Amino acid sequence: MVRRVFSRFLLNFTFRRVYYLAGVRPDHTPYTTIAQPMDSPAEKNSRRIRLAFASCPDYSAQALRPALERVLTPQIEAVGGVSGKSVMLKPNLLAWRKNNDPQAVNPRFIVETARLFLDAGASRVAVLENPAVQTAPQVLKAMGILDELKALGVTAANFGDYKKQPPLDSVCYHNLEIANEFREFDFVADLAKAKTHGMMTLTFCVKNLFGLVNGGDRLAWHLAVGRDYDKFADMLLDLYLVVRPDFSLLDAVTCMEGNGPGAGTPTDRFFVAGGTDALALDHDAAKILGVDPATLPLFRRAAARNLIPDPAIIDRIGDVPVCEPLALPDQPVMDMAQLHLGVGIPKHLQKILHRALVVNPKLDPKKCVGCGVCVRMCPPKSLRLVNGRPAFDLPHCIRCFCCQEHCPKGAIEPRMTRTMRVLKAVDRFFRN
Ligand code: SF4
Ligand code: SF4
Repeated sequence: MVRRVFSRFLLNFTFRRVYYLAGVRPDHTPYTTIAQPMDSPAEKNSRRIRLAFASCPDYSAQALRPALERVLTPQIEAVGGVSGKSVMLKPNLLAWRKNNDPQAVNPRFIVETARLFLDAGASRVAVLENPAVQTAPQVLKAMGILDELKALGVTAANFGDYKKQPPLDSVCYHNLEIANEFREFDFVADLAKAKTHGMMTLTFCVKNLFGLVNGGDRLAWHLAVGRDYDKFADMLLDLYLVVRPDFSLLDAVTCMEGNGPGAGTPTDRFFVAGGTDALALDHDAAKILGVDPATLPLFRRAAARNLIPDPAIIDRIGDVPVCEPLALPDQPVMDMAQLHLGVGIPKHLQKILHRALVVNPKLDPKKCVGCGVCVRMCPPKSLRLVNGRPAFDLPHCIRCFCCQEHCPKGAIEPRMTRTMRVLKAVDRFFRN
């Protein structure tokens, strides 16, 4: 009883926190659609964007160093050099469980990037991140590079100074509160992994900026947007507009496919990429890895907000890689309008079917060790431990897949409902 009352209180508090973050009262929607682009077309087209690509067969220093140099040098030139300047590295550091773990940027990628900035004359390089379970130094230690970074004079710390950001006309969410440390540096470098994601399907540099949001608030954002992934994409785009990383680097030597972002399968694509604009780089990366950007919530919303850069202002350096598409996770919610079923479905039946066209989190009891991390990470508290195993309260599950993302054993995976599987098979039959 006490636990239930406490959970309710916590849920209520979390909702209020989100409404505060969004800058609206609790009886209003936290979401406002914006009409105006950030810059006028003339301003937007005056800034040229550089994207660079380089093949990289493995993570050895001999392979990685020249590849990173090829993609980073054009970006450093674009800002007029980094000599005497400070650079903050924000790598994707979810956790590190084994050698070449595809859920985080490879440790050699972080070290070589830091070296390149130092060799280019940067006066200060620091690694900052806020992984969900451990601290940034703990993850770097598990990766075996904390001492190496220290020896180079590179500091490592967790974000901790969260501040409300000055509002921009172009953002959807006001009162966005994020780690303010990025303002202490002359430049921000966004180091992302190419990986699959249960909610966003495929993620790169823009999604990596979600790490600047306070851990508790990250769960609150999931709760606030619920199953509307376009709203989550809008919040990521707001982060991109506020932070505007100067350098974006993508680790696609080994990518993740399948059950991402926490428990997918490593798969090699042997390239690194970089760009002066994170969104433009992500857009290219999606195409290279076999996904039409228009099908992903991030680019759908970016297009609606007139944020996708004009192709005429993009210069591409190096050969754009050609590679096998990544195996994607199932779309968490199926759109009836996109199904080819050979017959028209009456509207009222569509509504009923719609509720069954979702992907559910599913436990593999053989892998689960009952640690309870998933329970702690579930934003709406629709997950609890029963006899040492997580039990899902599916009617209240918002399909954010935080449980899957943070499970250290990869014991949770998104699984389609039976109705969804049948309709997908019929859809495939009529398409073929
Ligand atoms: S986080 Fe994974 S291993 Fe831990 S209780 Fe949840 S499902 Fe089991
Ligand atoms: S059970 Fe998993 S997918 Fe469902 S709301 Fe909780 S964390 Fe999200």
